[in-house]
Formats: sequence, structure tokens, C-alpha cells
Amino acid sequence: MMISEKLVTGLIKQMNYEFYSAHAYLGMAAYCSAESLDGFANFFLVQAEEERFHAMKFYNFINDMGERAIVEGFPAPHNGFDSVLEVFEKGLEHEKEVTRRIYELADIALDEREHATMTFLKWFIEEQVEEEATFDNLIQKLKRIDTDSNAFFMLDSELGKRTFVSEA
Ligand code: MG
Repeated sequence: MMISEKLVTGLIKQMNYEFYSAHAYLGMAAYCSAESLDGFANFFLVQAEEERFHAMKFYNFINDMGERAIVEGFPAPHNGFDSVLEVFEKGLEHEKEVTRRIYELADIALDEREHATMTFLKWFIEEQVEEEATFDNLIQKLKRIDTDSNAFFMLDSELGKRTFVSEA
């Protein structure tokens, strides 16, 4: 199968950005771990695993299209946080940027009438709706509760139950 150089470049860029996302969420997990908030840390560790899974979906697709997935480096993610709320706000900001990039890629595929790539990207478009909703929901909750309240520690414990599901 042949796809344009522009599209291959875009797919490779997105694969690398998904790896970067895993890295960014690992940094968020580390902040929560250092604050002894193991449930919040677990949420971000699972998130990091999901991002690596997303990156590998791109890796496999690029290979299936007969192209080579070039692995690149990336800058250090944001590491300075003052609160769990700020971590989630940065997370939502990040997901919005991911959505913007996926849409940009989908626009190229649409322009080129590259149906296989459009179908592949459809999964990510749906996934991004879920990702943004998850972060937005947790931000709303965090805005309503004090960080030294029972509700806060219950949320921490609830997020501690999150597990990685590869179909997600
Ligand atoms: Mg992702």
C-alpha cells in the first residue's frame, strides 16, 4: 500500500507525540507519588501505559502501510506542579493538543481520500472525546473538594483501582 510522504511524516510525528504523552503522564504520576497520593499516581501510570499503547498503534499501522516508523527524541515534559488540580488541568490541556493534532492528521487523510488511514484515525477521534471528558470530569470534582477532606482521599482511593485495558 502506498501513502503520501506528507501523511507518513504526519503519522510518524503523531507516534512520537504519543510516546511523549506517556512521558508527560509519567512526570505527573511522579508528582503524585512524591505527595504520597498513590491513587492519583496510579491514574497517571495507567494513563502513561495507554499512551504507549496509542504510540504502538501508530507504530504498527505505519509498518502495515509498508513504511518505517522513525523513533525520535522529545523535550522534557512539564514537571513543576503545585497541586493535583493543576496536574489534571495540565493533563486536559495536553489532551486538547493531542485532539488538535489528530484532527490535523485526519484533515490530511481526508484531503488525500486515504480511506485506510481515515478508518485508523477514527478510533483516535473517538478516544479523544473520552480522554477530554475523563480529565474534565475529574477537574470538576477536584474543584469542589478540599485537599484535606475525606472526599479527596476517597477520590485518591477510587483512582487507585484504575487498571490498563488495551482495548480502551
Ligand atoms: Mg493518546
